[in-house]
This record gives sequence, C-alpha cells and structure tokens, in this order.
Amino acid sequence: MKTTIKFWGGLRTIGGNIAEITYGKDRIIFDFGLVYDPANVIIDTQQRKQSYVLDMLKLDAIPAIDGIYSKEALTGTSFSMKKPQPEEESAYQTAVFISHLHLDHMGAIDTLSPQISIYMTKGSKQLYDALENIGEGLSVHKETIGMSYGETIQIGEISVTPIQVDHDIVGASSFLIETPDATIVNSGDLRMHGANPEYTEDWLTNMAARNIDALLIEGTTFRPDTNDAETAEESDILVNGKTLLREHNGLGIFNLYHRNIERIHTFLQMAALTGRTPVLEAPTAYLAHQFLADAKFEVFLDGSSKHADIAEQLPPQYDSVTAADINQDPAKYLLQNSFHLIHNLLDLDLKNSIYLHANGMPLGSFDPAYTSMQALLNRFGVTYHSLNVSGHAKKEDILYIIDRIKPHVLIPWHSHHPELIKPLDPKQEVHYPKKLGIWQPTTAIMTD
Ligand SMILES: [Zn+2]
Ligand SMILES: [Zn+2]
Repeated sequence: MKTTIKFWGGLRTIGGNIAEITYGKDRIIFDFGLVYDPANVIIDTQQRKQSYVLDMLKLDAIPAIDGIYSKEALTGTSFSMKKPQPEEESAYQTAVFISHLHLDHMGAIDTLSPQISIYMTKGSKQLYDALENIGEGLSVHKETIGMSYGETIQIGEISVTPIQVDHDIVGASSFLIETPDATIVNSGDLRMHGANPEYTEDWLTNMAARNIDALLIEGTTFRPDTNDAETAEESDILVNGKTLLREHNGLGIFNLYHRNIERIHTFLQMAALTGRTPVLEAPTAYLAHQFLADAKFEVFLDGSSKHADIAEQLPPQYDSVTAADINQDPAKYLLQNSFHLIHNLLDLDLKNSIYLHANGMPLGSFDPAYTSMQALLNRFGVTYHSLNVSGHAKKEDILYIIDRIKPHVLIPWHSHHPELIKPLDPKQEVHYPKKLGIWQPTTAIMTD
C-alpha cells in the first residue's frame, strides 16, 4: 500500500481547494468549498432541492469524486455526465476535514452524503452552529464533528492533527496528515501579520522539526501586482480607525465580514477608546455575544422586522438603538452597516460621517456592488476610508515558511499564480499539481 494525493480543485484559483489522500481503502478529503464562478449563479436550492447535488455536479461546482454523495442525491438524469459512484457502493472509509469556515473552503459540505463524517475545529464548529442560528447556514443542514487543536483523528491508517494558525476567521487550522509511509502538511489559509502571529510561529516551529514529505501551501498573495511593503497589519486597524474617528465629528460607520470575530472585537475596542457607543446589527450582535465574553455594545433596530427573531435571542443586557436615537448625537456612535443594509443610512444624519471599510462585502472593484457602494456613499456625503487587512501571508512570509519547513516537495496551490512562488533555496523541489493529478511520496511518482 502506498499513500497517494489526488488533486480535485483549487490549483490555480483562490478557494475550491480539494485534495484527497488515500492509503489502501482509507481516505481523507480536505477542504470542501466553492470557487466563485459566474456560471453557478443559477443554483437555487430552494427551487430545486431534489436535484441540488446533481445540479452542482452538472455545473462543475463540486467534484465528481466516487463514494461521497448519497445514492438518493444522485438520482435523476445526468445525460452525458458520468455520475460518480454513490457512497453506499464505495469500499472507501472516507472523512472530510475543513480547515476553516470561509465559503471557499466549506461552502459545499451540504452536498455530501450523511454517512460522510465532517471534521472541523471546535471554534469552527461553534461558528458553524451560530451561523445556522442567524440564517447564514448552508442550503441543507449537515452535522459536523468538532475537534481540539492537537487532537489526532484516526481514519483507518491515516491520522489527521489540526494545528492552529492565524487567519482572519475564528477556528482556522492547518492539518498534519500522517500515514504509514508519508507525512503531509496542508497549511490552510494563514498569515503572520495578523492579531495572533504566534499561532503561525508555533505551527512553523512544530513543522520545521519534522521530516515533511509534502507541504501544500497557500499562495494567495502571489500576484504580479502585489507589493509586501503595502500590506497593512491587523494592528493598523485600531490605530488608524481611532485617528479617523477623532478627526470626524459625525457618525462613525464600519463594514466588516462578521465571521472575523477578532475584527468585531477590534471595532468594539475602537469605540471604547474614542468615547463612542458601538452599535451592531442583530446577526453580528449574536456572534459577538456567542464568542466575546463581557463584550459591550448596543443592537441596531432598523425599523424592518428582518432581524427581529435574532434580536429576540439576545439576552436583555444589550440595549437596542434606533436611527432616531442615533440622530440625537451621531458623533457619539460607531455603527455597523453591512452593504445589504446600506439603505439604513437613509434614516441617519450623515453630516461629517466616516465609513470605515474593513473587508466587509463588497470586497473590491471586481465586484459590481463595489461601484454601487462607492456611489451611494458619495451621494450621502460620507467619507470612505479603507481599513482592509489581508487574511493571507505576505509573499516574503510564505517564502520564509517554506524555507524553515524545507519539505521534500513543495506543492503550491490556492493561488492564481503558483509559479510565482520561487523558494529561497534553489534546490527546493516544487510540484505544480494538475487537476486529477496524483502524487505519491514514496516512489516520488508524479502523474499529471
Ligand atoms: Zn481560502
Ligand atoms: Zn480563508
């Protein structure tokens, strides 16, 4: 028996990284997310619940891996598409491991057969469950299993150990995968300029002391147009945000991605340090209550009853605030505003207000909504300021990580330009996998 790695996606894209490691009939798959693809916008799970999995396969939104989808989900006409073998007929013992809860890493786990175990860290699971409670779960409910960092999960002869790394989401993890003949590391998404660089440092020290056959590393920031010198650090958000809020004697507004719990904490701190009251939208307030002990904030009541059910789940210690309350003295508030609720700004006195954009949707000019956001803020006379900080390591940090781990083979992925990752050590072997390519550590066979 020999270990094999097979690559199913995410090789020249950001996200949709899916690889399969087998040893005999034991098999693990990591991660199981979606790549944003304009061709997939027609997927409407409510309208076509019965054919959800088959639809996703036909659109190439999920890979046709044998033995992971249920017979029932594969029922229906597939025309020229060859259906994968149903889970019920597979001889493999399979488990799926999710490194973190960004959609590009977990957005398709609801297509998997109920018989397939899905593992994620306890922090990820807590977030997964909380997201379901605020209506941001996946289309189909799927049970998951939480694991502690450092806890080894045995799938037959394959063992998987999640090890904490710093990324811009709670619960992020790298995976150390050991089989009888190979040691493989999947870095997951990580960075060294975040709120907790020590997580990534400790992971690195641990990995550098091992004999790693293959290191799968993310290379998001390797693009021809990026410059490390321009990379903002997580700590800049608080420092710059404080200064900007002090310079504006109107309402402070911020837009973030609320799966980044530490970022919510940063804005609560920023409000406290500038004498403003932080006001959160109900779904974010729910997450802050779940994850941040003793957090102090108020909850925005936006007139519509959209989030009333979520607001009701919050304990009474959080006061609610209306636009009328804020308009009495806008400079006393730091209000969260997500783009899909930007119409709420119409109810507010926006004189001298400032909008702090910290990686909330829409992320950048590649999204048509970004132009709308800028146009609306302009119309409202709101000063826009970007406080975006990347969740992905700078190029020099990725090269440093590779050089310290010195794997036998480096496998770059999760990058539009993996070939731009040029290891510091010219002797470092690099393998650029192709879709459905197989890599075998023991014989150093690479079939693409
Ligand atoms: Zn990612
Ligand atoms: Zn990520």
